[in-house]
Amino acid sequence: MVESNDIAANPDFTGLLSDLTATFNSGKTRELAWRRKQLKAVSRMMDECEDDLFGALKSDLGKCAMESFTTETAYVSGDAAYSCKKLGKWTRKKRVSTPVVAQPGKSWIQAEPLGVVLVIGAWNYPVQLTLAGMSAAIAAGNCVVIKPSELAPATSALLARIVPEYLDSDCVKVIEGAVPETTALLDLPFDHILYTGGGNVGRIVMAAAAKHLTPVTLELGGKSPCVVLPDANLAATAKRIAWGKFTNAGQTCIAPDYILTDADTEALLLPLIEKSIQEMFGHDPQKSDSYGRMVNDRHFERVSGLIASGHTAIGGLVDATDKYIAPTVLTDVAADSDIMREEIFGPVLPVFRAENLEEAIAYIRASDKPLAAYIFTNDKGAEKKFLEQVSCGSACVNDVMMFMAVHDLPFGGVGPSGMGAYSGHRGFETFSHMKAVMKRGWWPDLDVRYAPYTEKKFKFLRKVR
Ligand code: NAD
Repeated sequence: MVESNDIAANPDFTGLLSDLTATFNSGKTRELAWRRKQLKAVSRMMDECEDDLFGALKSDLGKCAMESFTTETAYVSGDAAYSCKKLGKWTRKKRVSTPVVAQPGKSWIQAEPLGVVLVIGAWNYPVQLTLAGMSAAIAAGNCVVIKPSELAPATSALLARIVPEYLDSDCVKVIEGAVPETTALLDLPFDHILYTGGGNVGRIVMAAAAKHLTPVTLELGGKSPCVVLPDANLAATAKRIAWGKFTNAGQTCIAPDYILTDADTEALLLPLIEKSIQEMFGHDPQKSDSYGRMVNDRHFERVSGLIASGHTAIGGLVDATDKYIAPTVLTDVAADSDIMREEIFGPVLPVFRAENLEEAIAYIRASDKPLAAYIFTNDKGAEKKFLEQVSCGSACVNDVMMFMAVHDLPFGGVGPSGMGAYSGHRGFETFSHMKAVMKRGWWPDLDVRYAPYTEKKFKFLRKVR
């Protein structure tokens, strides 16, 4: 069996899955006490290993401690604590009403764990995107295999070391590796797969899962639009957009990808965004401890190349030796330019002209359904129209990304931005089968449903249906 750092040339995880299946079948992970103990251990791991986690995130992504705390360790810890607190309620049987024709009887929904869940994480939030999914799967009573992204190697190695120290290693395993290891894992009949990453690999994951009829949750990406109407509080709008876009150097799946606004609002908004950037990162963001770096040379080259798509209104400086791209805002971008066609996933923010809300909505609707969509306005009618007409995974009015702080808002995409969701109760449901149960009484046992099907019985049934 291959485990943790021990990556074989031809990885084969058949033994790993059969061991975990045997453990699952023993019933150990179904016990609420076991689940609570693991969830508490997740929170403890985040606290006690904080320095190591911050160090790994700094090494992989140049993330500063506070950003690592809010978006990774505190998020994972809070999420696990919330699941732990709600577990009793979530696992309780839910009674549903039983109609007259089915009396005497009781009916209910009872959550049961699925079995062994595979969690394949992405590199941009390498702690959160593996451990939050793992916690949800544990809360639902499953065994879990987590496969962190090889593009965040320091974090991957650290998780492979600390997860077995804190969690029950008979039930939770970390497999490090890249395409060969993920491919070998995907060959196996897991009971559910949670994948986070790009859509191309999402298709590979879904095709592999189809062979075993394994259900999948795909957390993908896309271009999340940000509409700014002239009546918005523009100073707050600029600050919030700049925060959302330049956190983690723009490498956030729900970062505002581009702004849609009219010419007058653009002219007012740009100096306010510039001011916000300076307030957050100073005059030289490369020297700021609060500003991250591109994850690797490939992504540095890709995002740097997108700057040529428009006029550089703010920033534009790049430094390959440091994988640094300054917080950058582009104007005069064409609809068919590269930056408007692909997910940016870096600190470059194009402002695209839409002279009114209708034009903005039409533009968004002509593209793939995004993972997130944002609107800044005080106009309730505009807000309603936007929420009704724009299909997206999550939406936020007058801010960006903050829905992530709400445990019980499901997180997931729609269409090309993903399928399924997790977080809070929805995460518990994702990794559970909601089993339908009915219990019948013995008496009275109405003769009406049994043959022979007489006219009298037929009449009675028509009456009580
Ligand atoms: P990535 O390169 O880290 O890949 C994700 C995972 O897929 C990794 O664990 C990797 O080992 C595995 N993988 C890569 N190639 C594979 C292959 N050929 N076969 C099997 N497995 C393979 O991440 P990425 O794809 O660069 O992630 C960026 C994308 O993820 C962006 O589009 C972003 O928007 C999206 N994303 C979405 C969310 C979300 O929650 N919806 C969160 C973060 C990132």
